[in-house]
Amino acid sequence: MDTPLARELADLSSRRRALRDVKVTFGGEPRIFTVSNQKGGVGKTTSAVNLASALAELGAQVLVVDLDPQGNASTALGVTHSADTSSIYNVLIDDLPFAEIVQPSPESPNLFCAPSTIHLAGAEIELVSQVAREFRLRRALETYLRESPKDIVIIDCPPSLGLLTINAFTAASEVMIPIQCEYYALEGLSQLLGSIQMIQKHLNPELHLSTILLTMYDGRTRLAQQVADEVRTHFPEQVLDAVIPRSVRVSEAPSFGQTVIAYDGSSAGAVAYREAAVEIARRAPHDAQKKEN
Ligand code: ATP
Ligand code: MG
Repeated sequence: MDTPLARELADLSSRRRALRDVKVTFGGEPRIFTVSNQKGGVGKTTSAVNLASALAELGAQVLVVDLDPQGNASTALGVTHSADTSSIYNVLIDDLPFAEIVQPSPESPNLFCAPSTIHLAGAEIELVSQVAREFRLRRALETYLRESPKDIVIIDCPPSLGLLTINAFTAASEVMIPIQCEYYALEGLSQLLGSIQMIQKHLNPELHLSTILLTMYDGRTRLAQQVADEVRTHFPEQVLDAVIPRSVRVSEAPSFGQTVIAYDGSSAGAVAYREAAVEIARRAPHDAQKKEN
C-alpha cells in the first residue's frame, strides 16, 4: 500500500540497511567536542550521549565528560553518579586525576564517562578562586588522554555560559550546537557565537563551530521546516544532513539508563543519530577515513 506511513517505513528500513554497510576509521589526534547552547532543553545531553554511543558502535574509543550538575549524561550512560562518587567536580576542584573518575559505560566496551555529581553545582563559584580557573579541565584531560588515548571526547555542558562552560570551550576544539526546530530556535545564538569568538581570541584559538545538529524535528509542521531552512542558509557548512526527529523512544531511553542506540537501535531516532555519527566521523580532520561499499 502506498501510504505516507508505508513510505516512511520503507525509507527507514533502507536507511538501516545503508548504515549496516558503512565503514569509517578512526585514529590520529583525539577530536574534542563541546556540546553547547545556553538555551535549556534543546537536546544537548540527548545528542551528546546518543552520538557518543553511535560513534562507539562505529568503532571509536569515546569519552563523555558530564559537565552538568544535573548529571543527565551520566544517567543515560548507566554510570554511577551518587553524591559520594568521585566525579568531574574532584578533577576540577581537588586536582584528582581524570583516570580515577572515568567509568566504563555498560553500553559498549568503547564508551566511557567522566560523571558529574550534584557537588558540581558549587564548582561554578569555587572555580573563581582557583589558579588557571579557565584551563582546569583542559589540563586534566590532556594528561589523561596521553595515558588513555581516545578518538572522540564529547563534553556535555550545562545551559549557561559560566566557568564550567568556559572550561569546556578551552578544552575542546570543536563546538557542536544542537538546535531545536521550534519557535525561538535562533534566539540567543548570536550571543553563543559571540562567546565562541571571545574564547577564540583570548583563551583558545583552535576553537571553532564545526557542527550544528537539528533536533526534535517534527516534519508535520511548517515551522520545523522553516527553522531547518533558515539554519541551513546561515550555516551551510556546519549543519549535518541528518536531522533528529521528535521521538518518544529517544525521550524514554534515559529512564532505562540507556541511550536510544542501545534501547531501540532500529527506531527512527536511533537511525538518525547513527547517521549523524557517520557524518561526524567522515568529517574527521584527518585523512584516514574512507567509505566502502
Ligand atoms: P538542559 O539544558 O537542561 O541540559 P538539554 O539541552 O541537555 O537540556 P535534553 O535533556 O537532551 O536537553 O532534552 C530535553 C528534553 O527533551 C528531555 O526530556 C529529552 O528526553 C527530550 N528530548 C530530547 N531530544 C528529543 C527527541 N528527539 N524527541 C523527543 N524528546 C526529546
Ligand atoms: Mg543537558
